[in-house]
Formats: sequence, C-alpha cells, structure tokens
Amino acid sequence: MTPVSPTFVQLSPQHAETLRAVARASYPHECCGLLVGEGDADIVVTDVVPTPNIAENPNAAFAIDPQAQFDLLRATRGSQQRVVGHYHSHPDGSAQPSPRDLAMAHDPEAVWVVMTASATSASMPRAFRHPCGAWSFVEVTVAIKEPVL
Ligand SMILES: [Zn+2]
Repeated sequence: MTPVSPTFVQLSPQHAETLRAVARASYPHECCGLLVGEGDADIVVTDVVPTPNIAENPNAAFAIDPQAQFDLLRATRGSQQRVVGHYHSHPDGSAQPSPRDLAMAHDPEAVWVVMTASATSASMPRAFRHPCGAWSFVEVTVAIKEPVL
C-alpha cells in the first residue's frame, strides 16, 4: 500500500489543552506521547496518550518509551483507531521540528505535533509531516474543534 501522508489534523479543545498542560508540567524536559486517531489524509485525533521521555538528555531530546508504544499498538489492533503520530515539546524553543527531529523522521504517515513550552505557558500545538525522502518537514493544518459524533 502506498503510504498516505496526513494533510489535516483535528484536535478537540480538551486534547489541545491536555497537550499544553503536559508540555508545561514537563518543563524543563521535553514532554512526549502518542496520538491515537482515525483517518488517513484527514486525521481526527481521538486520544492523547502521554508517555515517559526516556531520552538520556530529556532537556534537549525526546524518546518515546517503546513499551508504551507497543502496548498502545496492541490496544488499538482490530479497532477503528490507530496510532497516527506523536507529540513533543521544545522547552524555550520553537514550535517546529528541529534538525534532531529531522534525523529521526522515517515514517511519512506519522503526524508530528510540536509545541514550545516554559514552566508557565505552552504554545498551541502545530503539526507536521515528513514526506518520503524529503529534506524537511511540511506543516499540516491543525483544526481545534469538537469532533462531530
Ligand atoms: Zn523536537
């Protein structure tokens, strides 16, 4: 199957607030976690799952706990939902992927959500994707609104 790159990501206001709260609480470390959702190009995020940052230098990097990732892949197997991507924060940084992030980007289907954070504030989440073989990320539109049930 040809990979389908995400072009649109919908987050509920509650999920956006959860992401920002985790980013603030994790400061000065980068927070990280997984995004569960539905859709291929148009993605609706249905769950935000914080995971431990197991990077050796969590002030400047993130590494999602592989056990948490495995558990979530198993939990979503056979359902409409899947792991659509992940998020992390840049303490005192910018809300876009870093050169280190670019070196880690290998999945064109994954949504990358990035925020800046301080101890008291966090930016609104921005989303990116990394097309196959590309030398940079492409920003994906984020819509913050309640899902239509
Ligand atoms: Zn980063």
